[in-house]
Amino acid sequence: MNYRHAFHAGGFADVLKHIVLTRILLYLQGKPAAFRLIDTHAGAGVYDLTGEEAQRGGEWLTGIARIMQARFSQATASLIKPYLDIVRAFNPRGAELEAYPGSPLIARALLRPQDRLTACELEPKAHKKLVDALRRDRQARVVELDGWVALPAFVPPKERRGLILIDPPYEQKDEFERLAAGFAEAFAKWPSGSYLLWYPVKSRRVTEELARQVAEAVGRTSPPGECLRLEFSVAPERPGTALASAGLLAVNPPWTLMGELKAILPELEKPLGQGGAGRWRLVRLI
Ligand code: SAM
Repeated sequence: MNYRHAFHAGGFADVLKHIVLTRILLYLQGKPAAFRLIDTHAGAGVYDLTGEEAQRGGEWLTGIARIMQARFSQATASLIKPYLDIVRAFNPRGAELEAYPGSPLIARALLRPQDRLTACELEPKAHKKLVDALRRDRQARVVELDGWVALPAFVPPKERRGLILIDPPYEQKDEFERLAAGFAEAFAKWPSGSYLLWYPVKSRRVTEELARQVAEAVGRTSPPGECLRLEFSVAPERPGTALASAGLLAVNPPWTLMGELKAILPELEKPLGQGGAGRWRLVRLI
């Protein structure tokens, strides 16, 4: 396991993923019944943006740093405010960004007393950091377990409401296949759950195949589930350069998510674009 999320923390892909994560969790807060977030590949929890890895990666400078400075319409500003408020809470000194919260800590900020978080992280150093960040937290459980094992094993959660975030590092060649197979197995066990799957866009053939397999699994249940596909490119993809396009598959999303993203995404084109405006597409697969 060589992947270190600190290089990428707060980059454009994190910004998109975490805005969508926040919108889904806020929707789940709409009913009093408890929910659970299961984060299968959770990361270290908090990233030091002044540290060597984040400084070398520098992705946050064209991601969260730009979003913090950008001006938005009132509608979009109010949709992304909860996400930005969480980022601000990790930067109490205000002036310069110094830290960026990862998915488990963003989720933790959105748990009500009845809600729970299960976070899996296998890399020992990242696991230790996450344990430290969530120490003595009765609502959060950090497990040093393979996310691919946890995925089918932990669903359905006992709350029978919630979101499964699947955000692997894609450092193994077979990780797209594992994602499709792992998702299909979990979804068959818990077809009424919500799932959020992140993927990098490097090969069209591979990402189309992933979307096809996920849609097929979602369509197999009766009644079939729903699936939204969102992709965002900050620049044209060029071999040998940093990742420029990323996607999300939101399975059984809140009915409000499509409309919210239609308001938010056009306003991210400018601040997230690199050498021109960013481009996005949002489609309903099922
Ligand atoms: N979800 C995090 C966020 O949004 O802030 C980022 C996660 S990062 C893309 C992927 C993480 O998965 C890394 O921290 C890596 O160490 C961890 N990881 C790699 N293989 C794993 C496995 N089989 N099970 C659980 N975690 C794994």
